[in-house]
Amino acid sequence: MKFECASCGLRIDSLHFKQKGLMNPKLTSICDICIQHQLDPKNFENKVIQDISQVMLYGFSGKKTDSRQLKKAEYLVDRTQKKQYEALIQDFDSNEVAQAQIDRRDFNQAIIDSEDGKINYVPKLGVDFAVNMENLGLKADFSLNEVDYIDRERIRARYNYRCQYCGRRGSSVDHKDPVSLSHNNNFDNLILSCSECNTIKSNMPYELFIKLNDRISGINKKLVKYENTLANLKEEFAQAKRYLAGQVHLRGVVSDPELNAIRKQNKKLQDAIDSLQSDYDALRNTRKSYFEAGWKLETEQENPDII
Ligand SMILES: [Zn+2]
Ligand SMILES: [Zn+2]
Repeated sequence: MKFECASCGLRIDSLHFKQKGLMNPKLTSICDICIQHQLDPKNFENKVIQDISQVMLYGFSGKKTDSRQLKKAEYLVDRTQKKQYEALIQDFDSNEVAQAQIDRRDFNQAIIDSEDGKINYVPKLGVDFAVNMENLGLKADFSLNEVDYIDRERIRARYNYRCQYCGRRGSSVDHKDPVSLSHNNNFDNLILSCSECNTIKSNMPYELFIKLNDRISGINKKLVKYENTLANLKEEFAQAKRYLAGQVHLRGVVSDPELNAIRKQNKKLQDAIDSLQSDYDALRNTRKSYFEAGWKLETEQENPDII
């Protein structure tokens, strides 16, 4: 889904307007690039996003309005430039190779600097994505880690969208041998992992990671259970919230004894989720420290000197 930013006027993917919170994701009236540009969503009206956040039971960060008329964009007026920025941002949003190498904040900053004229370049249409990026000072190597989109999807399906290290849901197509060592994009060097295992493994030698991981299969099974239970409870909570919103709407009052009883029930459910989530996070942290310590010990063992 695409939204129009109430500040810069760009029509870009909804991901730019979504702020993740544990229980209550929020939609913002302006895009993340404008927010990084020090603009406050609370000063901008955006009726479309306001309505959608209400329907989705998301929070809304913006100035409340009844007007469908979007005010004129603040600092991007040239319509031809608008298309160019939109195209480049869309290219970045759909390019996993670029996203793996360039931090989104750095990408946003380059867009801002270009909009403000601090970088003397405006992305061009019909020019190679890599060239546009390079002219904005964003260097990524597109030949290195290139596994095309279809291959990634095939690998995800082959492993049933499960991390092959811990068993939780995963979607990062990962090299067994780090790319920095081998540049090997063959199918048998590619595996599916969750972002957490991917981060832990990072540039750690594959054999060591596997050795350490094999010793904690009981912990990994627990993590899968946590993940499943939390997903079920969160779904239940979302349903309970929808039910409550429906009841408020039906009765035309915000507060009566029955509604308050439902709210109390929901609060208990939320508390249970929070507490389970913090147990889960604690176990994840322990697991991460375990890998870090294992790697440190291994390195220490290889080095006989003590000074
Ligand atoms: Zn914007
Ligand atoms: Zn994993």
